[in-house]
Amino acid sequence: MPRIRAAVCTAFNQPLAIEALDLRAPLAGEVEVTLEAVAICHSDISYAEGAWGGDLPAVYGHEAAGRISSTGPGVTAFTQGQRVVVTLIKACNACINCATGHPTICENQAPRPAPLTRPDGTEVIQSMHCGAFAERVVVDQSQIVAVPDNLPPESLCLLACGVITGIGGMINAGRLKPGEDVVVIGAGGVGLNAIQGARIAGARRIVAVDMSEAKLDTARAFGATHGVLGTEKSPWRKAMKALGRGADVVAVTVGAIPAYEQALRYMGWGGRMVMIGMPHSGAMAQYEPVVPAFMGQHMIGSKMGDAVISRDIPWMADLYAQGRLKLDELVSGRWSLDQINEAIADTRTGGARRNVILFDT
Ligand SMILES: [Zn+2]
Ligand SMILES: [Zn+2]
Repeated sequence: MPRIRAAVCTAFNQPLAIEALDLRAPLAGEVEVTLEAVAICHSDISYAEGAWGGDLPAVYGHEAAGRISSTGPGVTAFTQGQRVVVTLIKACNACINCATGHPTICENQAPRPAPLTRPDGTEVIQSMHCGAFAERVVVDQSQIVAVPDNLPPESLCLLACGVITGIGGMINAGRLKPGEDVVVIGAGGVGLNAIQGARIAGARRIVAVDMSEAKLDTARAFGATHGVLGTEKSPWRKAMKALGRGADVVAVTVGAIPAYEQALRYMGWGGRMVMIGMPHSGAMAQYEPVVPAFMGQHMIGSKMGDAVISRDIPWMADLYAQGRLKLDELVSGRWSLDQINEAIADTRTGGARRNVILFDT
C-alpha cells in the first residue's frame, strides 16, 4: 500500500494539515492516478468551512490531472502511464439518469471501501470521490478521461470542474443557441467559462456582471461584449439598456443569494436562468413566482455543467489546443502542496482566478 502525502482537514475553518496517509490499491473498475496538478475550487473551500457538512478528517480537491500509475481488475479502457483528467463525476452507467445522458445526477452513488487511511488504520474521507489534495488518488474509471500528452497539466486539470461547469452550464444545461443574448452574473473561475462558453456557442451579446471593475476587464478578454458593475443601483437596468431587451439566458455563477434574487430581473420573455453557483446549505432566496409564470421563464439547476465527460472534455481539450479556449489565462498562481493553505487564502481574497497545486512527479 503506497504511503502518500495529503492535505487533511481535521476541523472546519482550520488550516489543512499535511499528513502521510495510506492509499489502498485500486479495486475492480478503479484506477490509481499519480497527480501532476490539482486546482483549488471554491467548493473545496466551502467544504473546508463546513458549509455543506460532511465527516472529518477529510481530503478535498477534485479538479486534477495526472498519469495512471495502476489499474484495478477489469479496467480495459485505460493503461498505465496514460495522462488523464480526474473529475468528481462518478457514474454507474446503469441508472435512468446515466442512461439518458445525465451522469452528473447519477442516482446510484454506492459507497466503496475507503481508499484513504491514517497509518493507525483510522479512515480518512476521500471527499467528492476524489480527495485530490494528495499525491495520488484511487478513483472509479467513470471519473477519468484520457487527454493529450503534449498539453500542460496545470491547464488540463481545470477541465475537471470549473471549465465544464461554466461551458456546460451555458451549452448543455442552458441550451444556448447562436444569436441569443446572455447575462453572466459573476466573473470568477466559473463565470469566465460561462462567458467563453457563450462565445463558443455563438451568443449575440454577452453581458458580464461583477462587483469588481478589474474582473469585468478580464471578462471582456474572455468574450464579454459588455460589463456591468454589480455595485451599481439596479444593475439590471444597465444590462437591459445594453441589450434593449431581457436576456435569453442568465447564468448565476456565484453562490451569493442577492445574485440569485436579482437574476430574474435580467431575464426576458421565455428566458432561462441557469443556476450554477452553490450557496451554503440552508440559505434561502426570495422571488416573485408570478413573474416566471407570466413570462414563460425557466429555472434550470446545473450540476457540473450537466457534463458527459467522455464527450465534453476531449472537445474542450481540442478547442484549447487550437487556441479557441482560454485555459492558461485562468491560472493565476502555481503552488506546492506544502503551500496549500496560502493558496487557499489567496483564492479566498477573490482576486485569484484559479490557483493550482503542482506536484513533483
Ligand atoms: Zn469544483
Ligand atoms: Zn447512474
